[in-house]
Amino acid sequence: MFYIGCHVSSAGGYTAAATHADALGGSTFALFTRNPRGGSVKPLDEADMAAFNAFCRAHEMGPMVAHAPYTLNPCGAKDNVRDFAFRAFSEDLARLEYVPGNYYNFHPGSHVGQGIPAGIELICGLLNRVLWPEMHTTVLLETMAGKGSEVGGRFEDLRAIIDGVEHTEHLGVCMDTCHIWDGGYDIEHDLDGVLTEFDRVVGLDRLKAVHLNNSMNDRGSHKDRHARIAEGKLSLDAIRRIINHPALRDLPFILETPQEQDAGYAVEIAMLREMRED
Ligand code: FE
Ligand code: FE
Ligand code: ZN
Repeated sequence: MFYIGCHVSSAGGYTAAATHADALGGSTFALFTRNPRGGSVKPLDEADMAAFNAFCRAHEMGPMVAHAPYTLNPCGAKDNVRDFAFRAFSEDLARLEYVPGNYYNFHPGSHVGQGIPAGIELICGLLNRVLWPEMHTTVLLETMAGKGSEVGGRFEDLRAIIDGVEHTEHLGVCMDTCHIWDGGYDIEHDLDGVLTEFDRVVGLDRLKAVHLNNSMNDRGSHKDRHARIAEGKLSLDAIRRIINHPALRDLPFILETPQEQDAGYAVEIAMLREMRED
């Protein structure tokens, strides 16, 4: 099964989001659990969550890769920033229990001058407060571009976070192809080498999802500007190798490419289905 999809709006609820993803040709999708740039959240709608579960089962959707808001920074320097991170994270995970078996992806955060080790300690501190043994969601650390003071731009950062967390059975990684390229990993010429390195440092068994994006900038630029699949610095051959690689091909692939309208996603999904090998 090829799990390919895109980000869809959650403004109309979870079932509407899944229905829209399906209409775009997706077999998986991502949504923001709350306003990505603010943090406000709609009231919990249990009937919507139940309908969502039924819809995803009936349409054989791959796991949803829900995304935490960008404003969530577990390793901010200010108390109110970290308080919001804790509150939003724990509320989101409580809510996702109504849709068990999906993913919750978050940006490890920006240490804002405190340094990577201090940032990692804060991130582990948050994860150790919000994960619990019986939870039904897997939390994913996103690989970052290393822009500014971002933590997670190196596989070693992710390893150090995992090492500091108690309930790692609920912890995985989402690999963003734009981010790791911008972070310096050569997925254009040496995908095998990058995945071998990931396996050595983090472990491929931790890898649960891929954010499939092209990049507007050169390798190692640390910029984090996404490009459409056919338009960035990565060749279509590199994209083809990514979606067909034995270590990646069974994971959900989520497009986060800049589109003026969601129809652009439908075009990319159809194109990627053409590029998929049996
Ligand atoms: Fe992200
Ligand atoms: Fe991403
Ligand atoms: Zn990005």
